[in-house]
Amino acid sequence: MKFSELPTPCFVIDKAKLTANLRILKSVRERAGCKILLAQKAFSAFAVYPLVSEYLDGVTASGLFEARLGSEEFRGENHVFCAAYKDDEFDEIASLCGHVVFNSLGQLRRFKGRALRAGAKVGIRVNPEFSTQSGHAIYDPCAEYSRLGVLCADLSEADFDGVSGIHFHTLCEQNSDDLEATLNAVVEKFGKYFKKISWINFGGGHHITRPGYDIDRLVNCVKKVKEEFNLEVYLEPGEAVALNAGFLKSKVLDIVKNGIEIAILDASAACHMPDVIEMPYRPPVLNSGKLGEKPFSYRLAGATCLAGDVIGDYSFDEKLKISDEIVFADMAIYSMVKTNTFNGMPLPSIAVMEEDGDCTIIRNFSYADFKSRLS
Ligand SMILES: *Cc1c(COP(=O)(O)O)cnc(C)c1O
Repeated sequence: MKFSELPTPCFVIDKAKLTANLRILKSVRERAGCKILLAQKAFSAFAVYPLVSEYLDGVTASGLFEARLGSEEFRGENHVFCAAYKDDEFDEIASLCGHVVFNSLGQLRRFKGRALRAGAKVGIRVNPEFSTQSGHAIYDPCAEYSRLGVLCADLSEADFDGVSGIHFHTLCEQNSDDLEATLNAVVEKFGKYFKKISWINFGGGHHITRPGYDIDRLVNCVKKVKEEFNLEVYLEPGEAVALNAGFLKSKVLDIVKNGIEIAILDASAACHMPDVIEMPYRPPVLNSGKLGEKPFSYRLAGATCLAGDVIGDYSFDEKLKISDEIVFADMAIYSMVKTNTFNGMPLPSIAVMEEDGDCTIIRNFSYADFKSRLS
């Protein structure tokens, strides 16, 4: 069916854009000689995993369920990092994953033997204590009191017997100059351990597929580490894989006035794009401008009871009417994976748009999905 025929609310995965991103990532893999994994926490649309697996080496998980999804749906490597594994889940995780990364020396001591016996490679996540981001402390694993990664001061106590890798993840939507600076800190602090290991994982947060990203610098960073230390290098971007590769189609249910005009939609920030409130950010809307840029300005908001269920302020060329379509862009990442049914709001359907624009609905949700998560 056509995009305009899709029901609302509906997430639409844009295969052409996804493929364009994947081509860029594949060229990075080939030029740098590294492996690239999809961080499933950003994008778990397993219907397109066969497509993704043509371009990337594998997936990475944040715990048992993502590890299972990866092993069921993706042909490739399956890695996992969890801030703390549960005893009763660990053996299943280790049986599904080829690489298991530990967040603390306590977890390493507790589970290393079981990981190795299951045939998994074992890595330690380190905290380089080198922040390159400002503003978003909740996205900064190097922020004060961070629980993520072993400190340099503590790593000297680690038993590296059976440990083959080091993992760091400190970036979020950043360019390769920040990676380069971080890498210098990592080498300075942890370089003395590199002769004990055979692989290093640079984590995610590399905004590789955004215009203006300095790919050459990334390639040089990878090559330098590979050549200087003879290590296999992994990158595990989430956002960059499906950046700008999805839409959330919604429609106007009502328009109310209170000082400004407010359009109430069948899509909700709180339920369908919680990062809009959490991060926070103002998502792009097709055919819209900033407030006051075009003649007709509106606040777009959700239909829940939450006063703060506000998506943002936009302007349009024409007056909005009930039933008009509002299409949010860049909705493939961190939206589909974060939806909830607060207020009993229905979950958006999921559709895929082929390269020629033809759309197919691949998933519908109903009252049963709301009820089945409660009791
Ligand atoms: C979130 C995360 C990623 C992916 O980050 P993006 O910003 O989506 O690229 C990769 N690795 C780890 C450990 C993460 O926590």
